[in-house]
Order: sequence, then structure tokens, then C-alpha cells
Amino acid sequence: MTLQIIDFVILEISPYNYYQNQILMNRHKFIEELKNQLESVWDIIVIGGGATGLGVAQDAASRGYKTLLLEQSDFAKATSSRSTKLVHGGVRYMAQGDLLLVMEALHERGLMLKNAPHLTFNQEFIIPVYTVWDAFMYTVGLKFYDLLAGRLSMGKSYFINREKTLSRLPLLKPAGLKGGVVYHDGQFDDSRMALALAQSCAEHGGTVLNYFKVVSLIKNERGKIGGVKALDVITGEEFDLKTNLVINATGVFADEIARMDNPASNATIRPSQGVHIVLDRSFLQSESAIMIPKTDDGRVLFAIPWYNEVVIGTTDTPIDDISLEPVALEKEINFILQTAHNYLVKPPTREDVLCIFAGLRPLAANPDKPESTKEVSRRHKITLSSSGLLTIIGGKWTTYRRMAQETINRAIAKGFLKKTKCVTSDLKLTAISSDNSSDRLYIYGDSYPDIIKMISENPEYGVLLDPRLPYIKAEILWICRNEMVVKVEDILARRTRALFLNARASAEIAPAIAALMAQEYGYDHKWESEQINEYTKLVRSYL
Ligand SMILES: Cc1cc2nc3c(=O)[nH]c(=O)nc-3n(C[C@H](O)[C@H](O)[C@H](O)COP(=O)(O)OP(=O)(O)OC[C@H]3O[C@@H](n4cnc5c(N)ncnc54)[C@H](O)[C@@H]3O)c2cc1C
Repeated sequence: MTLQIIDFVILEISPYNYYQNQILMNRHKFIEELKNQLESVWDIIVIGGGATGLGVAQDAASRGYKTLLLEQSDFAKATSSRSTKLVHGGVRYMAQGDLLLVMEALHERGLMLKNAPHLTFNQEFIIPVYTVWDAFMYTVGLKFYDLLAGRLSMGKSYFINREKTLSRLPLLKPAGLKGGVVYHDGQFDDSRMALALAQSCAEHGGTVLNYFKVVSLIKNERGKIGGVKALDVITGEEFDLKTNLVINATGVFADEIARMDNPASNATIRPSQGVHIVLDRSFLQSESAIMIPKTDDGRVLFAIPWYNEVVIGTTDTPIDDISLEPVALEKEINFILQTAHNYLVKPPTREDVLCIFAGLRPLAANPDKPESTKEVSRRHKITLSSSGLLTIIGGKWTTYRRMAQETINRAIAKGFLKKTKCVTSDLKLTAISSDNSSDRLYIYGDSYPDIIKMISENPEYGVLLDPRLPYIKAEILWICRNEMVVKVEDILARRTRALFLNARASAEIAPAIAALMAQEYGYDHKWESEQINEYTKLVRSYL
């Protein structure tokens, strides 16, 4: 194997930002704090460390509330690391006539790009069109989409002819093509965004704990919720924690928590599975993404460049089995491959697939149409039970901030919290001020100089761990020291995106990652081999 040294730019590092970051995210420190405060009452305990819960916890902590977030697995382990990675208003929801939702989401898109410029990008999309009517309809529709975005528009939409479409998308099948409609939306790294929210919450004095599962709710003699019983999944230790307010932000698991409150409560979630496949970028050979607005069965399909690869998806399959590791159905994989086959000159086969990942949409159930999920609104829902459990379900990654703001405002309106103003619309997420966004390490935001310094002191830290993946030793060590990792999987799936970019390659570097973690944390060989086995087993369901 040839080793490659990645290019990196040495920033001018002032004494101020040189290793400026304190270690805010430290699981042991947070657990110690928890133990020292068992008699004190939290203002808010948030259950669930996905986009919704982390958004709520960040909002709460930044308003000054004493906030604790508990996640049963790793941050963003569930749906929030398995999205299409779009920061978008939702062209499809516009077609469904949900203009208010689209407008809200476009506004949030603008805020997300402003507040997390290190994790969000402006992405050009092209809709290939095959009839004059489609060319007209999509051009007008997308101009309206721009209009709805107002001053937060990301670039104008316009029609391009067949030649220009093929020059921007050289691998698109030319037969019958009339042209393309270009528009812009945002793209992001979902699990790193989740981490940035966790870090922001900690920066504002909040406590965030992964691998902490809420096993029951504690009620007082009047039947009102006054706390939770939580289990440290790693040590098996249990804690009774007191709070004024419990917020259920557990996505597709929300009904489980609701049943802890009231065993007779009705189902509120209609889970819908969405699958993506990841392919080598050579299958797209373009910086532009493709949007197919209507596949053979009326769905929307995207092919989007992401890091060095291309992500294609998604599906929309109603599902009954709710799991942290949903598995793609064969028919979903075939549908994506077949659709790619319909549009691309170089059709991918199953052997070309680098990763298959599935996620569950926490859609709010529609009692009138229990089976349909395509038409279920992506709008969120906030409810309050008679015993005081505040639940937030549905929505999208893009609207996490607004969902959080509304949730905390509802808690204030119901008298759980003293009145405060939301500050998150202008709250920057650890973004670095210097513009060096062409360097991938920029995703570490204001910790970027720390990583660069590690490489300059130890050039071997800049060596790629595997030529098929963009990751280097310096960032793995930095992650170990700063980002609350517990398992090898946390690093390979969510701190880096190795599992999603190339599942096989990620399994091959798992031993190196386990060794680095063992060295950093003082773990023994048994721990290393258990972690490697666990990870290798996990990877099978991504292939
Ligand atoms: C295929 C797909 C593609 C998508 N694409 C996009 C997109 O491109 N753009 C966009 O804006 N949105 C997208 N979405 C929607 C978006 O991903 C979700 O709305 C969002 O991630 C949901 O976040 P959540 O926090 O509500 O749920 P989750 O991410 O599932 O988080 C819930 C968390 O609660 C935890 N939990 C459950 N029970 C307990 C307990 N007892 N104790 C402690 N913790 C518990 C779980 O472990 C989990 O981590 C997509 C969704 C899917 C499925």
C-alpha cells in the first residue's frame, strides 16, 4: 500500500488561538458532575441526542437553563446520521403545496449556512428534463422556490439547454434529453453537525451524555413527572435525576418514552425507512448533483457529491420494526440501482456499492392515512401530556433550530421555565473565522489550528490511514481527546464518515483506530479485539 501525505495549509496561528479550546466535551467529567449534583434539580432533561434533542439542548443551555441531555447510544446514532445530507426547503414539499413549511425551512437553511459555515455548503443541483412542459414547469417552480427563500436565497434557478446539461453532467444518458433546470440548496455533514450542537450546548454550560439511556420516568405523588431514571450503558450504573421538565426528543422511539409516561398512550409515529447507496465519484464525474423529481414510482431521487464519493437515494418505505440499526431491504437497493441505471451512462452494479445505509423518518402519524408515508407532512408536532412530558416529533434536520425554539417557548408558555429569549438564530457553531474552506479539516471549525499544529509537530500524523478514505491520524487523536468517543464505531461512523464513505475500507482501518483509542485511554488488547469484532459485524449490514 502506498502512503500518501495529504496537503494541508499551515494557518498563521496567534498565541490566542493556539490550542485555545478547552476540553469541554469529556464524558468522565460530565459523569463526575452528574454524581456531584444528584440532589440538585435540572431545569430541563432532554431525552435523545439526535438533531431534535441536541437542538433543544443547545437552545435551552444558550438561554441559561440548567440543561442535561441523555442519549442512549452515541450522538446522532439513529436517523440524524443517515439523512440525504441536504439543508433544504424541500422542492417536493412545494409540489405538495406546503408552502409555509418550505418557507420556514428555506429560512432555516439560510441560518444553518450562516451559523455553521464549516459544515454546510452551497450545492448546485440539476433536474434533467425530457419534455418542454417539464422544462417550463420546473423552471417556474424553482424560480418560485428562490423567491420563497427571499434574501437567504443561495443562487438563482435557471434553465440550461441539452448541451450545457451534458457538459455539466457528462454521464447523464442523452437520449430524449431536452435540457436541465439548475437550482441551489444546502448540503451538510449531518453527524458532525450533531457534534457541533453538542459542543455548543456544553460551551453554554449544558451537560451532554452519550451512552446514557432513560429507563423510566419518575413521578411525584400528584402523578407529575419530576425526574428520570437513567442507566450508564457502559458501566451499568443507574442514576435518579431530578428535573422541572422532561423533553422527549427521541425521534422514532418517542412512543416508547410516551409509554413510560402512560402505558395506554396511542402511537404517534409512523416510521418510514429511507435507504441510500454510496458510489465512487466516477459514477457522477461532476460537481453538480442530480435531482430526479419523479422516479418510476413517483418518488424523488438525488445523486449528490459528498466528500470524494456520491450518495444516491432515497426510498420511502413504511416500516414497523423500529431499530437503531435499520437494514435496507433488497427491493430498496434494487430500486436505487435501477433508477441510476435509467439515467446514467455508466450504470452501477451491486459490486460497485461502497456503502448502503438506512434511516427511519420519525413522521407524525396521520390517523386518516395510516399506510401512506410519501404524503405525510414533514412538519413537526409538539405535545404535552397531562403528567408534564413535553414531546417533539417529526420535522427535518434543516428545521432543527426552529423546532427547538418552539419547544422551549412552549415550555415557557406552559409555566415550566422562566421567560427567556431564544438566541440561536445568531449563534455560531464553533466555526473558524479564517476562510480556508477548501481544506477538508476545516470541518473541525475553530479546532482546525489545533489539528494543523499536531501535524506540523508530527508529520506522520498527516499520513492517510487508508488511501481510499480521507482521514489522518491527527484528527483521530484529536477526536479521541475532544469528542466523547466510547467505541470504534463512534469514530468510524459519526466523528469521521468512514463507514458511510467506504464500509469495507473502514473495517480495514478499524484495528488501527482501536489501537489509537487503546493507547489514548489505556485500554487493553481484549478491549481492542472486542471492539474490532463488534465493528466488523456492524459493517456487514452496510454492504
Ligand atoms: C432517509 C432519510 C433522509 C433524510 N434526509 C434529510 C435531509 O436531507 N435533510 C433534512 O433536513 N432532513 C432529512 N431527514 C430527516 C432528518 O434526518 C430527521 O428529521 C432528523 O434526523 C430526526 O432527528 P431526531 O433527533 O428527531 O431523531 P433521531 O436522530 O433518531 O434521534 C433520536 C435519539 O433518541 C435516542 N433515544 C431513544 N430512546 C432513548 C432513551 N430511552 N434514552 C436516551 N436516548 C434515547 C436514540 O438513540 C436517538 O439517537 C431525512 C431522514 C431520513 C430517514
